[in-house]
Amino acid sequence: MDVTADDRSTKALLARAAEEATAFRESVGSARHRPAISFGEAVARFSTTLPEDGLPAMAVIEDLMERASPGLASMVGPRFFGWVIGGSHPVGVAADWLVSAWGQNTASHAATPSAAAVEVAVAAWLLELMDLPRESSVGFTTGATMAGFTCLAAARGDVLRRAGWDVEQKGLFGAPPVSVLVGADAHATIFAALQHLGFGQEHVQRIVTDEMGRIVPGNFARALAECTGPVIAILQAGQINTGAFDPAAELIPAAHGRGAWVHVDGAFGLWARASPEQAHLAQGFEQADSWSMDGHKWLQTPYDTGYAITRHPDAHGRAMNILASYLPKTDENERNPSHYVPELSRRARGYPSWAMIRHLGRSGIAEMVRRHCRIARHMAERLSSEDGIRVLNDVVLNQFIVRFGADRASEAGDRLTKETIRQIQADGVCFVEGGDWRGHWVMRVSVISSATTEHDAERSVAAMLEAWRTVRDRATLEIDAVVPRCDKSERDNAERAVPFNRSVLDC
Ligand SMILES: *Cc1c(COP(=O)(O)O)cnc(C)c1O
Repeated sequence: MDVTADDRSTKALLARAAEEATAFRESVGSARHRPAISFGEAVARFSTTLPEDGLPAMAVIEDLMERASPGLASMVGPRFFGWVIGGSHPVGVAADWLVSAWGQNTASHAATPSAAAVEVAVAAWLLELMDLPRESSVGFTTGATMAGFTCLAAARGDVLRRAGWDVEQKGLFGAPPVSVLVGADAHATIFAALQHLGFGQEHVQRIVTDEMGRIVPGNFARALAECTGPVIAILQAGQINTGAFDPAAELIPAAHGRGAWVHVDGAFGLWARASPEQAHLAQGFEQADSWSMDGHKWLQTPYDTGYAITRHPDAHGRAMNILASYLPKTDENERNPSHYVPELSRRARGYPSWAMIRHLGRSGIAEMVRRHCRIARHMAERLSSEDGIRVLNDVVLNQFIVRFGADRASEAGDRLTKETIRQIQADGVCFVEGGDWRGHWVMRVSVISSATTEHDAERSVAAMLEAWRTVRDRATLEIDAVVPRCDKSERDNAERAVPFNRSVLDC
């Protein structure tokens, strides 16, 4: 196979990919919001023997599109509420195409002035948008997971350095023990980052939270008082189920009083600071030492974009240091993209962020955040006005959790909630998923795609209500068929005794 594509075939190839991508985006709003095939079926579509010989370029792309299509999810669809996931806005996607086509290895400004420079510009815009200390350093990571990892690596280095230990050179063996305080409802990826950094999941002290998942200040103060050596405290701006914010204005000064480095996981929630109407929720977080955020959530860039922001550029740079004689020598005082992230070779992540901020502007971002919060509140109100449905959180941001069969016994409510979610997915008007909250199964709703309108919200609520009524009526029929003469308490007992996947009850 000739692997050198001539100009004409390159043009046709890229045009064909653009045509397919455009068709996908144009139809996703009206398509069912769930993949047409399962994972197993998708594996079968791709699994062939290792090809011995090549295939012409256009045939490969046609083949790829054909095999991939049925297993694609509508994550960029307007009624996708499954997880906190942005909509990969077309402007971000177009910029991202250029990232791939330009193929800039964004490690050093000496190698690629433009890709390094756009990060300088976006970093300044972000700090202004979020109103964070303007001297902060910003690393462009794959997402908030790696942003959290990066910031916590800087934290680890800094608190140990202040205790007379150089962790970057000596590692953790023999280091003074570091106390790590984190809210019990922190995101799973924070615990993963701590694991990668040698802190261990069990070593970390999980601070008890309130009913919305916020750290309780009294518990935090007691844990702080018991710390003896260096301390890292991790707060959250935007809990993935409730959208709640830790009380930063109270917690951060207390932690700083104890010499702690305070990190904030603000993957999506910190964007509240960009909207005057929501900014009060995230007040006080600016006092922290570092912040991890996503671009591919509320800013709507395509994957992969996250931001590792710290108030201490030296600690940040030390933690991510990569030295090699073959790398281009650059002026020490100039920002190099690789100084602030774990990787060396990587894509030019600044361009899609630049394009999205340039497209929306400060007012557009504020309007989007406000609209999503308004839509979430409205959907939650509509749902909770129906018998048997309860919204379990104060809807302060864009996230809410819903219990179906809320007036039933615990197991019956779990079963009805799971069945309703399955019914909603089967109908395919919108996409939602479930999760556990305080031992109860709930439907999780995240309103975060730029494509979502009020009209989409209305259609989705109607589909959710219809699914719930179907499930409820089916359950009532089953109970009536088996326990026709039970009184209510006997029925509740019968439901309580029934495992989730059994639909026939004994009384
Ligand atoms: C999504 C999320 C993360 C992880 O971010 P990724 O972009 O998936 O790496 C961390 N914390 C919170 C609160 C999140 O919502």
